[in-house]
Amino acid sequence: MTNTLCLSLITLITLFISLTPTLIKSDEGIDVFLPISLNLTVLTDPFSISAASHDFGNITDENPGAVLCPSSTTEVARLLRFANGGFSYNKGSTSPASTFKVAARGQGHSLRGQASAPGGVVVNMTCLAMAAKPAAVVISADGTYADVAAGTMWVDVLKAAVDRGVSPVTWTDYLYLSVGGTLSNAGIGGQTFRHGPQISNVHELDVITGKGEMMTCSPKLNPELFYGVLGGLGQFGIITRARIALDHAPTRVKWSRILYSDFSAFKRDQERLISMTNDLGVDFLEGQLMMSNGFVDTSFFPLSDQTRVASLVNDHRIIYVLEVAKYYDRTTLPIIDQVIDTLSRTLGFAPGFMFVQDVPYFDFLNRVRNEEDKLRSLGLWEVPHPWLNIFVPGSRIQDFHDGVINGLLLNQTSTSGVTLFYPTNRNKWNNRMSTMTPDEDVFYVIGLLQSAGGSQNWQELENLNDKVIQFCENSGIKIKEYLMHYTRKEDWVKHFGPKWDDFLRKKIMFDPKRLLSPGQDIFN
Ligand code: FAD
Repeated sequence: MTNTLCLSLITLITLFISLTPTLIKSDEGIDVFLPISLNLTVLTDPFSISAASHDFGNITDENPGAVLCPSSTTEVARLLRFANGGFSYNKGSTSPASTFKVAARGQGHSLRGQASAPGGVVVNMTCLAMAAKPAAVVISADGTYADVAAGTMWVDVLKAAVDRGVSPVTWTDYLYLSVGGTLSNAGIGGQTFRHGPQISNVHELDVITGKGEMMTCSPKLNPELFYGVLGGLGQFGIITRARIALDHAPTRVKWSRILYSDFSAFKRDQERLISMTNDLGVDFLEGQLMMSNGFVDTSFFPLSDQTRVASLVNDHRIIYVLEVAKYYDRTTLPIIDQVIDTLSRTLGFAPGFMFVQDVPYFDFLNRVRNEEDKLRSLGLWEVPHPWLNIFVPGSRIQDFHDGVINGLLLNQTSTSGVTLFYPTNRNKWNNRMSTMTPDEDVFYVIGLLQSAGGSQNWQELENLNDKVIQFCENSGIKIKEYLMHYTRKEDWVKHFGPKWDDFLRKKIMFDPKRLLSPGQDIFN
């Protein structure tokens, strides 16, 4: 009975929506109606508009004119062709062509409105993934790849893959991000040193370009589009399907956090471990900082050790946490203890401060979900997040550490959130992709993941980010920002450096009217 009622309600709403022309803002600033004849499932109710207007960053708020909830990829192509200057219908009369902005939105976990389309149309990619069900994730017969609807969250890719005993090889720390969203940036984490970012593990893509053309691309087929879109910040097309590389899935993980009071030993061990990509090396490597002027989270450690961990942090003011994981299953069980034993004997950590948990593979990959639940319960998830993510050349990491960590962070009266600090290998990245990295074999991923809870003002935290950037600038440390948001063209030109001309050329080729992902502020 309830189901029937719900269905009738949805039918009525859909009918109402389909009979009501939708008002959006054109690039020229005039009101444009989306004609009913386009047959698009657009939503303009306050809830849908508000949900599409902000993101995880909780700093920007940009209302779109409408949200497209597509049930097929052809609907997206139709919208984009119309956005390129189909006839607009101004209060009944047909006027010359107008263009308007369109942005794909995966999970909206951007930080500064990158998935917004002020006045234009936000394409809700979750709708497409839902419409594709049960074929949103299709594992190939031989288990070597998965064809995935781009609006699918990585956690659902993982679930579908492990059911078949396989798994993607490289992950972000948090899995409730869409495939299309992370492929538009890079998708980095603790497996990147071994397998590269997520963009290095894609065989093929279906993309609807800014002109509304549906194209399949791969390293061999339309390679300009393929490499452009990977890390392309949504500028060239909307990814609708991605073919993701898979490998055998392990079942369990030895997950360690190993504490260092000495930065040189921490750095030396991290860099040595990422150079070991054979069977005896680790499968995952990250690192983070525990500082006495911040919240010291000891929940990973056994209850009986939590007090001495907290004391170690207080005594040294800063402790470097090496985080490594080694996967195993029944076949690799014999070597797992050997690897852990070798780590405990050869690494230069603070004696007695190596802790190992043994957890299922799924739980390990999904570990940040627990943090999310904790923060949500404290009301600290939906707060402003002025995050700064940067890649620092390996050759300057000591200077960065001395200037930024010792000089700036430890001198704050308090710090907030998590600070990530780990190296990765550049040889796993393909320079033809759009993402920018420092020009060195080893570079560090630094994440100042600050959150402004309570009365704290996010601008104050942002000041710290500015100081970090300024310090690098003044010291000649050639960092590259990740998940960045620049508003000045010169900053984008500097960011892309030698790739800028190519980026611009692809924009003209695939999205000449500059309609896509305007929230990135690259071509506005
Ligand atoms: P959205 O925010 O929805 O979109 C991001 C950009 O991509 C927008 O410009 C949008 O228009 C465009 N876009 C979205 N979908 C498509 C598509 N199908 N085709 C073309 N363009 C598209 N990143 C990492 O690399 N590693 C991490 O470990 C990591 N951890 C994170 C943890 C948290 C809690 C959060 C909030 C973010 C994290 N990120 C991480 C950042 C994350 O990868 C990016 O913010 C990513 O864009 C989020 O995906 P999304 O689906 O929410 O994208």
